[in-house]
Amino acid sequence: MHFETQSIHSVPSDPLTGAISTPIYQTSTFEQESHGNHKGFDYSRTNNPTRKVLEDLIAKLEGGTNGFAFASGLAAIDAVIKLLSSGDEVLAVDDIYGGTFRIFTQIYSRFGIKIKFTDTTDVVNVVDDISPKTKFVWVESPTNPTLKISDIRKIAEIAHANGSLLIVDNTFASPALQRPIELGADIVIHSATKYLAGHSDVIAGLVVVNSNELAEKVKFIQNSSGAILAPFDSWLTIRGIETLSLRVNKHSENALKVAKYLQSVDEIAEVHYPGLVSHKNHDIARNQQNGGFGGVVSFSLKNDSLETAEKLTSLTRLFKLAESLGGVKSLICQPAQMTHKSIPAEIRKASGISDSLIRLSCGIENAEDLINDLKQAFEKLEKTAAAELKEVIA
Ligand SMILES: *Cc1c(COP(=O)(O)O)cnc(C)c1O
Repeated sequence: MHFETQSIHSVPSDPLTGAISTPIYQTSTFEQESHGNHKGFDYSRTNNPTRKVLEDLIAKLEGGTNGFAFASGLAAIDAVIKLLSSGDEVLAVDDIYGGTFRIFTQIYSRFGIKIKFTDTTDVVNVVDDISPKTKFVWVESPTNPTLKISDIRKIAEIAHANGSLLIVDNTFASPALQRPIELGADIVIHSATKYLAGHSDVIAGLVVVNSNELAEKVKFIQNSSGAILAPFDSWLTIRGIETLSLRVNKHSENALKVAKYLQSVDEIAEVHYPGLVSHKNHDIARNQQNGGFGGVVSFSLKNDSLETAEKLTSLTRLFKLAESLGGVKSLICQPAQMTHKSIPAEIRKASGISDSLIRLSCGIENAEDLINDLKQAFEKLEKTAAAELKEVIA
């Protein structure tokens, strides 16, 4: 079956009633026929029928053995980190998601887990920086927010030869464009808050593993730590996934058009989008992603100042100033002052997040309208700059 068909038909009708839409089992506990004898559900932290539909669905779409749903992307990340022990090391992509950077460096560092960052876009760096203590290699591809692409197949080989697991945060591509387990990854993580749920109306996280052994361990952590996804949020995420293919196609189509337009803008220094032939790892992206390059585009300005980027990001009308991405509505954000504020300035800049970097999450509106919105913002920016210059001269 093709992905579009799979993403709809992997949601079963309710076995009890035949309901086509998965019922929301809003219950904390389940009646037992006799002590310990039940229908597979005893307590909703451990297992819930609505959550189980979502967990089975994401496992199928990512080609893994088991899926697990958490209260947020970071709760999913937290559960995966808990597979480690004190003294273990993680080798991670340098442009890692800000929240992942924070949990590693400010929480798990206190428990003796070390993280080393490297530019995984060149596999040579992974070979150089991996060590016998490296338990996880942690990659995002594309990354947030500079859209770096890493070769998942090659990195999986390097990790496995070293006895390490490869973890891929697949939030930006979603399984509609990229299935890391098929490329060799051991664990896939999602902030389902983004493309999977897709409507900016839920916070959710998912983990998919490629073996029963890992599944047992993650299940134990999920039940023991308890950061599970609630039934209603599970339902919203299932509902989102049913239209994932359609949405991601439109997001990708719009983003490519917007990226090409941005390349023609005078004020812009650099446009980051894996769909552009000018992108450093465009060929790798084409090889490991299918059908598109996603909805996020970022760019930096020639005038690399926090203030100019702040002005520009307040002048768009359709692109709403907000953190997050992957929803039907287009969003604009300035990582240095918003999503990536928790990363120290030097580290932020070293990984390519300049002061003027602007991230666009292209929604599923009409591409021409989105481009016109950016055009009017650049025109206004130019006018205010000219007016300010006049004032200075006067
Ligand atoms: C948003 C995001 C997360 C965190 O997910 P939440 O649902 O916000 O907790 C993790 N990784 C990436 C790549 C993200 O974009």
